[in-house]
Amino acid sequence: MPTHSLRHLNSFKLAANAKELIDITSIAQLDALLPTSGNTLILGGGSNLLFTQDYDGLILHNQLKGIEITQDDEFYYLQVAGGENWHDLVMSCAKQGIGGLENLALIPGTVGAAPVQNIGAYGVEFCDVCEQVQAHDMESGSKQVFSVSQCQFSYRESYFKAKRQFFITGVQLKLAKKWQPELGYGELKAWAQSLNSAPTPLQVANQVIAIRENKLPDPRVLPNVGSFFKNPLVSMEQARTLKFSYPAMPQYPNQGKIKLAAGWLIDQLGLKGYGIGGAAVHQHQALVLINKKDATSKDVVMLAQSVREKVAEQFGVTLEPEVNFIDAGGYSHLDKALTYV
Ligand SMILES: Cc1cc2nc3c(=O)[nH]c(=O)nc-3n(C[C@H](O)[C@H](O)[C@H](O)COP(=O)(O)OP(=O)(O)OC[C@H]3O[C@@H](n4cnc5c(N)ncnc54)[C@H](O)[C@@H]3O)c2cc1C
Repeated sequence: MPTHSLRHLNSFKLAANAKELIDITSIAQLDALLPTSGNTLILGGGSNLLFTQDYDGLILHNQLKGIEITQDDEFYYLQVAGGENWHDLVMSCAKQGIGGLENLALIPGTVGAAPVQNIGAYGVEFCDVCEQVQAHDMESGSKQVFSVSQCQFSYRESYFKAKRQFFITGVQLKLAKKWQPELGYGELKAWAQSLNSAPTPLQVANQVIAIRENKLPDPRVLPNVGSFFKNPLVSMEQARTLKFSYPAMPQYPNQGKIKLAAGWLIDQLGLKGYGIGGAAVHQHQALVLINKKDATSKDVVMLAQSVREKVAEQFGVTLEPEVNFIDAGGYSHLDKALTYV
């Protein structure tokens, strides 16, 4: 019988239960627990998880805490435990005048989850500041340290996301003392041009917060998981054909392909505000699906499918969810969820 409610542990506020849940507050506790056998899921802040069924396994809720900062002439080195809050870390650095993380302000969740999908925003990704990742292999119980290249970071992907068997206990970040703000992203660029002098990390962080608050719904008010879909990568050829039919379509070169803006595609179809049951596409941000009122996992899955179908019909582009679907047995996906909701 499921016993642990997950409703307040996922930012979509979907009703789901877990068979077992353990708060992980020390490495020693993890050492004693691992390797685990059977279904085990790591939970951070729950801001990138979609529970489509009750979870029939053990949830390890990461609450590891601790931040240590050292430095040499050129760099600050931050050793941060995986259960720390990401945004609090960003703000603490910005307030101390340590630059490098400020573009990633207001991304919800934990530090330990940041490498998993290589979080990114406003021209900066986690991989840009990462020096190493420390993890426990849940299958063998052994400890491992990953260099940046071993993490295999790419757009919203990493080795940890591909493998799923590592519990990230901590990360080491390396931040240059000769800090250069990254202000190339549209709204940040316009703001930077209006300044009389170079901004501080704190000023950039506050501006990122202002931009995000203006366009993204606060999950505490309108439960959501941020971008529901990834921005699709298409071939140069497909991008050219699309640009011919839709001259205004935003396109960005990325890893030898072209990245399209999923939100723009959804918006073109007039889907802002479109809903199924208690789930809806946000009124102002087409890439964000929200729990408008008492949404069930079925509402969300049906809405995601409907949006995906409409985009595919119109543009011939398949949207892939960025959020992690979790069902009774663990990691799942939209097509599987459609078979049982
Ligand atoms: C309003 C909003 C805005 C957002 N904006 C952005 C954005 O701009 N950019 C962006 O990239 N993302 C964004 N996100 C997505 C989300 O915040 C990030 O993916 C974040 O890193 C998730 O952290 P979490 O602790 O909540 O992870 P969870 O949702 O708890 O877990 C996410 C995944 O990571 C795994 N995981 C968690 N902790 C660990 C660990 N210690 N070791 C190994 N695996 C682990 C989980 O098992 C799961 O697979 C946004 C979400 C919301 C709600």
